[in-house]
Amino acid sequence: MDLLTVNDRPGQYPDSYYAATTEQQVLRQKAEGRIDCDICIVGGGYTGVSTALHLAERGLNVVLLEANRLGWGASGRNGGQVNTGMRLDQESLEGMFGVDTARKLWAVADQAVSTVKQLIADHGIDCGFKPGVVHAAHRARYLGHERRLVEKMRKDYGVETLTFLNRAELHELVPSNFYHGGVLDLAAGHLHPLKYLLGLVTVAETGGARIFENSRVTAIHGGPRPRVITDSAEISCQTVIVGCNGYTGGLLEDISRHVMPINGFIAATRPLSPDEVQSVLRRDYAVADSKFVINYYRLSQDKRLLFGGGEAYGYRFPKNIAAMIRKPLSQVYPQLANIEFDYTWGGTLGITMSRMPYFHRHQGSILSASGFSGQGVALGTFAGKILADAINGESRVFDLLAALPAKAFPGGRRFQSPLLFLAMSWYALRDRFA
Ligand SMILES: Cc1cc2nc3c(=O)[nH]c(=O)nc-3n(C[C@H](O)[C@H](O)[C@H](O)COP(=O)(O)OP(=O)(O)OC[C@H]3O[C@@H](n4cnc5c(N)ncnc54)[C@H](O)[C@@H]3O)c2cc1C
Repeated sequence: MDLLTVNDRPGQYPDSYYAATTEQQVLRQKAEGRIDCDICIVGGGYTGVSTALHLAERGLNVVLLEANRLGWGASGRNGGQVNTGMRLDQESLEGMFGVDTARKLWAVADQAVSTVKQLIADHGIDCGFKPGVVHAAHRARYLGHERRLVEKMRKDYGVETLTFLNRAELHELVPSNFYHGGVLDLAAGHLHPLKYLLGLVTVAETGGARIFENSRVTAIHGGPRPRVITDSAEISCQTVIVGCNGYTGGLLEDISRHVMPINGFIAATRPLSPDEVQSVLRRDYAVADSKFVINYYRLSQDKRLLFGGGEAYGYRFPKNIAAMIRKPLSQVYPQLANIEFDYTWGGTLGITMSRMPYFHRHQGSILSASGFSGQGVALGTFAGKILADAINGESRVFDLLAALPAKAFPGGRRFQSPLLFLAMSWYALRDRFA
């Protein structure tokens, strides 16, 4: 199944709220003929564009190839949440990797969020960044763990930006009876993901990176002087960076074995009235809840509710995304059960078995970062800096992440879809009846 074509019109953005509210972009040239450069980057999402930006800043000759449009993948379609930490909490990471490594991983994730904020501030990227993400617990029994974790983060990691919320405190921010309490994270935040990505593109191009669109890479040949092939160009370079995440497909089998693509879906309601806003989100914080098939939502700048959620396994998007999202939306906010959706869309992200990102060096001169497991706004952006540093000989963080044990998904790429269906159905079922 070719995820670059199966659910979308090639070369065109999906009909998302984000594409509709972003200034029309000039179409960059398609790559043609023979091109020489220092670094060739494949993929025009946060990972690829941030790598281009950080390398161009250091004076390297950089070419980036995007199969469709810049931000066409998950980077232009996501929930916009800039989350702190890795996908798993620090208690789990300490158990998996030991305290020392867990602390280093926290430092990486912490720098990832700071890097996003710094890039926005330094380059005046107009993407509506707002601080605050609420983690809402839909089971009362999760609250003990949440409270302990906030205390641990304060004591062991010096984190003062997390606040435990009991039921009443949570309802002050998120007035939904679906939740029993949660945690407010004021270091996290939310933004317009496509505007943010295109802001990074401007910085990369100003720095001298050459960026091509509608230039799908069909093969990468490693070796001392790798070659990257599209249907109309051949790029010769010193190093290749692969940042295709959930859309990698068969381009690099090693990534496909370690990073499973899964689809996520979002609906944008019509703009809410001031009373409706008060009935869903009293402060402009984003929310991510504790369901296995997570609900995540926030207000847009024009006060629509952007609600992500719903279950659909298999690689084709369901025909009726709206009906699928309406189910969890009406559980959380029954008063919005029949609200009009002006936009619905889906996108593909990459997850790993461990939920840790997958950084890898393939045949020496090909590097990749993917599998951000739903944390890619911050981690994908920072991956670009980590990859750029590694190319410049500062590979401490790259080596730390590449050394994390990474299990391949059993059965290879052909069996991923049925396997995913079984696993997700089981977990979703447990969530429903637990
Ligand atoms: C619905 C949804 C909601 C999400 N919500 C959040 C959230 O709230 N917070 C968060 O942190 N993360 C979220 N994520 C995940 C996040 O969007 C991703 O982790 C992140 O965008 C990954 O960036 P990337 O650059 O690695 O990959 P992508 O943005 O997917 O970019 C990969 C690019 O590579 C291109 N490409 C692929 N193959 C080729 C090829 N052969 N040749 C040339 N180009 C190629 C694709 O066209 C694509 O543009 C969400 C994802 C989805 C789908």
